[in-house]
Amino acid sequence: MAFDRIFNFSAGPSVLPEEVLLSAQKDLLNYQGSGMSVMEMSHRSKVFDDIIVTAEAKLRKVMNIPDNYKVLFLQGGATLQFAMVPMNLMTVNGKADYIVSGNFSKKAAEEAAKYGKVQIAGTTKAENFSRVPRQDELLLDPEADYVHICYNNTIYGSVFDYIPETGNVPLVADLSSCIMSEPIDVSKFGMIYAGAQKNVAPAGLTIVIIREDLLERTPKEYTPLLMNYKILAENNSMYNTPPCWPIYICKLVLDWLLDMGGLEVMKKRNVEKASLIYEALDNSKLFKPAVSVKANRSLMNVTFRTGDDELDAKFVKEATARGMTNLKGHRAVGGMRASIYNAFPIEGVRTLVEFMKEFEAKNS
Ligand SMILES: *Cc1c(COP(=O)(O)O)cnc(C)c1O
Repeated sequence: MAFDRIFNFSAGPSVLPEEVLLSAQKDLLNYQGSGMSVMEMSHRSKVFDDIIVTAEAKLRKVMNIPDNYKVLFLQGGATLQFAMVPMNLMTVNGKADYIVSGNFSKKAAEEAAKYGKVQIAGTTKAENFSRVPRQDELLLDPEADYVHICYNNTIYGSVFDYIPETGNVPLVADLSSCIMSEPIDVSKFGMIYAGAQKNVAPAGLTIVIIREDLLERTPKEYTPLLMNYKILAENNSMYNTPPCWPIYICKLVLDWLLDMGGLEVMKKRNVEKASLIYEALDNSKLFKPAVSVKANRSLMNVTFRTGDDELDAKFVKEATARGMTNLKGHRAVGGMRASIYNAFPIEGVRTLVEFMKEFEAKNS
């Protein structure tokens, strides 16, 4: 590969498109005749205003975001949203339903419990999160202020194969590890949030997409300004200095996505990549997928193991020696995890699959 780059299977921060990195490099010292780097310019300048306005417009286009939704570019990561969501939205009846399908949804529920009554509307914890709860397993409260889900479970490698039907209760979704990996009907959600460092940009940017009517729920008296969706929206994410550099890279990633043909094409590419690994797993006697239900297999985080911790460690070590890094699974699951986000090249997937076959032949 060019520039001696390796195949980086990191779960996040993670691989960015080479075209984007090269474009940022080209404009690094002098952004389009401004005489300075995007890192150095005032966020109130005309040049930066053009970047953030364009980034939002392109995001709306790529995700087909309806006009009655606001887009916010924030800081604090998805983890801050675990608190901001209940602070702003658990304010009508003081209770919310949480679907717990993995580590991050569990953390979100625990954080929300500081602000009101959290009801676990469904969980697959007893099955070590090897699948996500089905719609018919959900116990939803029609009086809940919202229902929260984590759509793609980064650590366990599972994904929802349906958007939960929640009636009139707004659905709030953490899309950190699958945003822009395939088309999604934004109008089915009250709010979507995502830390950008998995699929969109470097760390430091959080994207929030929120339906306008929900902005009226925030208690004004004590909510910190920077955690108040309404104030952030009224100020177009510029109440204070926004994360300028990640917003700029986000814009370049959106250009890359649009040039490619948008999310339908992206999905096709992602299905092709993930299928190569899942097919190898289904045909293997050594490696087993960690997710028990095929429809819940993530396109972004492929989790698998041999069942033997020492053999798993050997696999990770030997893969690393061949230029495939960050394949070690999260400690909660063990085994291996191949995170193959949008920008991850298919050659890297092919190299991994070939190595899996070779490893299996040698070790069984
Ligand atoms: C990575 C991740 C988080 C945590 O994101 P931060 O930006 O580090 O706070 C939360 N939810 C999901 C689904 C993730 O993948």
